[in-house]
Amino acid sequence: DLAAESGSSKLTGKLETSSGLSTGAKMNATFVSLTRNSDLWDIADSIRNVEDRFNRNYHYDWVFLNDQPFDETFKKVTTAMVSGTARYGLIGKEHWSFPDFIDQDKAKAVREDMAERKIIYGDSISYRHMCRFESGFFFRQPLMNEYEWYWRVEPSIKLFCDIGFDPFVFMAENKKKYSFVISLFEYAETIPTIWDSTKKFMKLHPEHIPEGNAVDWLSDDGGESYNHCHFWSNFEIGNLNWLRSKAYLEFFEVLDQDGGFFYERWGDAPVHSIAAGLLLKKEEIHFFDDIGYWHVPFTHCPTSEQKRLENKCHCNPKDNFDWKGYSCTTKWFEKNELKYPEGWEDQKD
Ligand code: GDP
Ligand code: MN
Repeated sequence: DLAAESGSSKLTGKLETSSGLSTGAKMNATFVSLTRNSDLWDIADSIRNVEDRFNRNYHYDWVFLNDQPFDETFKKVTTAMVSGTARYGLIGKEHWSFPDFIDQDKAKAVREDMAERKIIYGDSISYRHMCRFESGFFFRQPLMNEYEWYWRVEPSIKLFCDIGFDPFVFMAENKKKYSFVISLFEYAETIPTIWDSTKKFMKLHPEHIPEGNAVDWLSDDGGESYNHCHFWSNFEIGNLNWLRSKAYLEFFEVLDQDGGFFYERWGDAPVHSIAAGLLLKKEEIHFFDDIGYWHVPFTHCPTSEQKRLENKCHCNPKDNFDWKGYSCTTKWFEKNELKYPEGWEDQKD
């Protein structure tokens, strides 16, 4: 049955994870949301969804991170809503500012140029700090250092299906390090040189690049160029120890030094995705088909009707983005030789 496939049958009793860090049915895991005080009611909406569909039965902690102190209203409302412990972290200046090697005039000229070209968030300084923070620093905040697993939740997302299994347990038992529900092509204008920096890293650190990685999903010409496929990182369930590994940190360092977070507008989605595709074995990346999800403007709705009914999904299957032309999930199935769910062809554009 589907529940067993998802790992819920193994939830009862003691559990030894592959990492050996956690025992007992509950994992050393937390939700994590980076938000402003002004995001309160939008994150409240997301919390309601996550609690109703999953966490009310599991009571995992929730870490809120902000570059400004959280106000009392934010803390009061979110604490009341989270069934686990809600915790609040203030991000240090060193993780949310321009590194001293960045040429301010050059960065400013880029923002002005991108504003004229109407590139989304192209004129924003704070968005760039946010992307750099999510790429290189969220997983090493003092509060996050206490956990092994994270589930990222953004404001105003929706969960469409009951999650009757523990995705953290599933990840541990199946040796997964990173997961996604939606993948797509990145705007080329935001990352023109990210692959140059990536190639520099590959030359510098071949020791971090295992055989059997997912580079074929990122590149259509054996690593020469980037095809712009990325996992949509507003949803992520992943392993924090992987992000804290030498391999990931050295990858981030090469990218950061090249300045593309400020001289272009690199998103954390392509950064995490390229890292996962290069540094992990492809079996360590998981597509969570069971988790029906929406973040404006895309939906993941399980293709299988049986799955939708069993998990009380309320998404319209017609909205499922997986097999549409702008999705990279078809390519993911292709490259990993995964079994396509029945009816997938009816959902193409
Ligand atoms: P989009 O999904 O790419 O359109 O970007 P969002 O506006 O959703 O931002 C991504 C995440 O970063 C969300 O969780 C936001 O709440 C958060 N975020 C964005 N900008 C800031 C900021 O300046 N400060 C803080 N604390 N959080 C931010
Ligand atoms: Mn968002």
